[in-house]
Amino acid sequence: MSDNSDNVSVRVAVRVRPLVQSEIERGCKDILDVIEDNEQIIIHSLGSKAFTFNYVLSSKSEQDQLYDRCVQPLIGNLFKGYNLTIMAYGQTGSGKTHSMGTAYSGAGQMGVIPRAISEIFDTVKDNFSIDFDITVSFMELYQEVLYDLLSGKPRDQCVVELREDPVKGILIPGLSELPVKSAEEVLAILQKGSAGRATGCTAMNSQSSRSHAIFTVNMSMTNKENRKEYKVSKLHLVDLAGSERPKKTGAVGSTFKEGVLINKGLFVLGNVISCLGDEKTQNGFIPYRDSNLTRLLKDSLGGNSITLMIACVSPADYNIDETLSTLRYADRAR
Ligand code: ADP
Ligand code: MG
Repeated sequence: MSDNSDNVSVRVAVRVRPLVQSEIERGCKDILDVIEDNEQIIIHSLGSKAFTFNYVLSSKSEQDQLYDRCVQPLIGNLFKGYNLTIMAYGQTGSGKTHSMGTAYSGAGQMGVIPRAISEIFDTVKDNFSIDFDITVSFMELYQEVLYDLLSGKPRDQCVVELREDPVKGILIPGLSELPVKSAEEVLAILQKGSAGRATGCTAMNSQSSRSHAIFTVNMSMTNKENRKEYKVSKLHLVDLAGSERPKKTGAVGSTFKEGVLINKGLFVLGNVISCLGDEKTQNGFIPYRDSNLTRLLKDSLGGNSITLMIACVSPADYNIDETLSTLRYADRAR
């Protein structure tokens, strides 16, 4: 079992969403039990199969609990020059976008992204000895093609390419990196960008998101007095594509291909994270180059960076296969 100490570079939180109205109406049963004190989740109908994670949040957990327990303690690392990746994994409809707050509208209980943004700018405001340069970018990765959601151009013109530079690492020429001075400004950008995200209709959820959304905050910090002390850091906030098997969505033709490619990115991500957590491979080979998702996140996974995976699950009996698959995926990452 992993602990919650500072030297653990990958942490996993599991969040159970409540049954939604339509599930209650259909008579779905809640098959998950959470033992919060033990950070444990139990699937009943499977001979009470139990999993333990760094954090387990029950269906009663509020947005502020998710943030305060799992995310807030990590934010300070950005100001020390560490990269931080926070991502939501799970089947479509399990609560990824709700938890991350990717579809920010200013209304309702805010998710992780707007809370993290506010906290960053509160810290910046209180700091008089450092000059901060902060930029944001917002990308979507769909069928291994990367789109710039902030380019303001029509969709077919906002494709950007990933390049690897031996010194600078991953570069994305032409990607919009907007300079920002306040939380309000960032939230307006987030709102505008998320309106431009592609969605494909599937039998599971007409608003289903079949792409990865990656919102990135880049910070560079210069000491005002000596102009020498210089640090950079990066926060990636990732709303991953739905993890469900293509079969269950009833997808055919090109939609099926989407499913296959999406699973490839998630598959490679699982391998990468699992390698990072495994002491035996810590100095060995990590298969970042096998997908664009992991190439993109390379400098923020492993090394001196910290990763939080929020695995989202549905409590409903009819989702048991996907829930088990998500818990297994998350368990490999731990
Ligand atoms: P995903 O992004 O994984 O497809 P969503 O975040 O869109 O899933 O969630 C699906 C539905 O469930 C939405 O109607 C959302 O409001 C609701 N939901 C998800 N998580 C929670 C939660 N923790 N509390 C209340 N409602 C939730
Ligand atoms: Mg979503």
